[in-house]
Amino acid sequence: MIKKTLQALLLCLSFSAFSQSYVVAVHGGAGFINEERFTQEEQDAYKAKLSEALLAAKVVLDSGGSAVDAVEQAIIILENSPLFNAGKGAVMTYDENCEMDASIMSGSGLNAGAVAGVTRVKNPISGARKVMENSKHVMLSGDGANDFCKTQKLEMVAPKYFETAKSQKSIDRYKKKTSATWGSQWEDSKMGTVGCVALDRDGNLAAGTSTGGMTGKRYGRIGDSPIIGAGTYANNRSCAVSCTGHGEFFIRHGVAFDMHARMLYGLQSLEHATYQILHERLAAVKALGGLIAIDKSGNVVMDFNTQGMFRGYVREMEEPRVFLFAK
Ligand code: ASP
Repeated sequence: MIKKTLQALLLCLSFSAFSQSYVVAVHGGAGFINEERFTQEEQDAYKAKLSEALLAAKVVLDSGGSAVDAVEQAIIILENSPLFNAGKGAVMTYDENCEMDASIMSGSGLNAGAVAGVTRVKNPISGARKVMENSKHVMLSGDGANDFCKTQKLEMVAPKYFETAKSQKSIDRYKKKTSATWGSQWEDSKMGTVGCVALDRDGNLAAGTSTGGMTGKRYGRIGDSPIIGAGTYANNRSCAVSCTGHGEFFIRHGVAFDMHARMLYGLQSLEHATYQILHERLAAVKALGGLIAIDKSGNVVMDFNTQGMFRGYVREMEEPRVFLFAK
């Protein structure tokens, strides 16, 4: 009798292990994003690229790949597109260079990797993954990170590769605005950091974020995106989170880890935790931004306290759904 019950339980457990369906969400930055600022053609281009990233993640997960694989592949698509502030199209420092930050985290085992201030690796998210998997460290920065990426045989490019007419225009505009205070331009920027969160069929969560940072930043400045617990966090016990926004605030408020802590210790739902962080805690200090997150049950949130956020998600057996503006 006991044996039979155990067998039934095991069958039930293995069935639920197989029946876990995956879900992926991406963002392409939050900010002053409303219908008036984008032509129909531009809106279509953003939507197409977000869908392409989701479909790339879907291919990985359909073939049994991990959440970490899916996150990396989706972010590579967005980094390679000049539409977003990550990889090609990264915004410029005051000195007119592109210094990029990225991080990735696996929710099973809490392994994590990050690169900060990289200038030559074509896909910073892959650099972050190599740090996670092939080094003893969590974060490498500057030349040390560039050199490490080279030893990992990642594709390296000339710093000019990342620059676009749009990022040049953005830094020119920033410098002309003599009254601009640090961060005041953030909301004005249409370009966004990118991120991805995924839950795979094995129930593993992962998160990743990649960015050029903020236009006109001082050289050497590091934002929240490569900081585990600020811009990125994943833990199978709670959720996977990728943030976008004014990084200094996201660092001070430990936003990504706060999501995890609220869920695990405060027993808040994914939605409630997100609401309190974005619309109460950050709003109270006038900090702008958004986040995407998935919990261990596959619930998804994509929320922001700005006018809009490039975002989308896809579930197993479904088509991607992508959005740009507040509904
Ligand atoms: N969080 C990024 C940073 O501060 C910028 C962004 O998400 O738009 O570097």
